[in-house]
Amino acid sequence: MTHTAPPFSRPAPRRRVLVPAVVHATPPPLAGVVHEFAGRTMGTTWQVRLVGGARVARAGITAAIEATLDEVVAQMSTWEPGSALCRFNRAPAQTWHELPPAFFAVLQAGLAVARASDGAFDPAAGALVDAWGFGPVARAASRPDAATLAQALQRGGWRRLALDDARRAALQPGGLALDLSAIAKGHGVDRVAARLAALGFDSHLVEVGGELRGSGVKPDGQPWWVMLEHPAGDAHPTQTVLALHGLAVASSGDYRRWFEHAGERYSHTIDPRDGLPIRHGVAGVTVVHAECMLADAWSTALGVLGVAAGLALADRLGLAALFVVRRAGGFEEHMSAAFEALQQ
Ligand code: AMP
Ligand code: MG
Repeated sequence: MTHTAPPFSRPAPRRRVLVPAVVHATPPPLAGVVHEFAGRTMGTTWQVRLVGGARVARAGITAAIEATLDEVVAQMSTWEPGSALCRFNRAPAQTWHELPPAFFAVLQAGLAVARASDGAFDPAAGALVDAWGFGPVARAASRPDAATLAQALQRGGWRRLALDDARRAALQPGGLALDLSAIAKGHGVDRVAARLAALGFDSHLVEVGGELRGSGVKPDGQPWWVMLEHPAGDAHPTQTVLALHGLAVASSGDYRRWFEHAGERYSHTIDPRDGLPIRHGVAGVTVVHAECMLADAWSTALGVLGVAAGLALADRLGLAALFVVRRAGGFEEHMSAAFEALQQ
């Protein structure tokens, strides 16, 4: 007996293929080989693929990648009590602090996204994140009482943060807690990519905790193809594949981390404007951008804004964004114009 298809197979998934408008015609390296590296950082994993000769100095490359990521952690981690960020968060009121250049640059970028998103993104939402139990304070995530929430709202907020660009310094107004978790992973990806390019590996794919950046092409001339994870998992009928050629991609969503309380699903993304976890049904937002840091920050910001306001802002700013919304019957997808333009 023959089957044309196995009896319980799902219909073949539809493929959505995304490629950048500009393709740099860099020829693939002659006789190149793909080398793979992996490790752990920022409470998650990292992976690097790069094209090199048949033999590369693996130990040196691994050390360079680790040192780059360790530096980001030492500056910007909320989980390392000794990080420059944690020291700033503990500093007395009304003190100025000169920050390491990368930390300052990420803070500036975070503030720019905060302004452009009218506070949907907030690099100083640490007190709120802690209040909901999503921060490094060891306790189960749960709904805070009204007084704790009000206090966290009052203490937080990017509008209380003052920067002195000339001195690369930030003012601790008192009790302000920075949290760069929504942007630092993407920055780490950019930094590793820059380090690899400086080492002469122009063709590489870098991933930290699901945020990716790709450059150049593989030895067969193909770009680095990556598949976008869908909140519905493999069951979703549409697969999105993206050619990461001079591009980065980052996603934010409640399908990755959340908690349930009294039948409600609480996301670890918080709307800093009212202090509550987002609850408008956006399961995930994916942003494609030249810089992974901005893809990371904007995926979080647009997730807070929700589909209507998020799509409008993405279109106004020319951001390539895909929203996946949870509906009673399944999932619904919405694309910004720049995201649609990536489709082949
Ligand atoms: P991401 O997975 O990139 O969306 O980052 C989520 C993390 O960023 C959370 O675990 C919090 O630490 C922090 N966070 C939550 N809400 C916001 C927000 N509205 N703006 C900036 N950071 C946030
Ligand atoms: Mg993010």
